[in-house]
Amino acid sequence: MPFELAPLPYPADALEAAIDKTTMEIHHGRHHKAYVDNLNAALAGHDNLLALPIEKLLGNLSQVPETIRQKVINNGGGHANHTFFWNIMGPAGGEPSGNLAAAIQSTFGGLDGLKAKIKEAALARFGSGWAWLIADGGKLEIVSTANQDTPLMTGKKPILGVDVWEHAYYLRYQNKRADYVDAWWKVANWKAIEAHFAH
Ligand code: MN
Repeated sequence: MPFELAPLPYPADALEAAIDKTTMEIHHGRHHKAYVDNLNAALAGHDNLLALPIEKLLGNLSQVPETIRQKVINNGGGHANHTFFWNIMGPAGGEPSGNLAAAIQSTFGGLDGLKAKIKEAALARFGSGWAWLIADGGKLEIVSTANQDTPLMTGKKPILGVDVWEHAYYLRYQNKRADYVDAWWKVANWKAIEAHFAH
């Protein structure tokens, strides 16, 4: 059973407050699709690996033959990261609540503190990658990964992630990654982000 590209959970223009429709169409329909296609091609003939949930595949890379491991990291990571990314965004906006809001308060001194740390990680990432809020044994931390590496590879649980590849923002923001990261919070789907923290 090959991996599949799910449709976006909202119309491509739903995130216009931060991300334009064309970027969403290209990002999902071409970039994410290519990760899925390339992952399936890399795993052709490995039916046991194709049957795994993507998190299980990336969470135990020693089960992947060395000859295809980097392709699985790049494209499997691309598939997992983008699937996660689409689902933690939405048009509603707002602010965190409940246990996550309390954890953000105690760890970062509030939402502005979290935003500042994510921005720092996003801007410090040279080239392509991601800035993440993760939970490590229930404790919130900020990390950044290169390329399509994912916290799942080191057993960490992503709570929130911002794609800082140029393909994520170049049409509207050109080289201004900081402006994109500032705007990104307008489309954070806090209900979905809180669900990642709760489970
Ligand atoms: Mn991307």
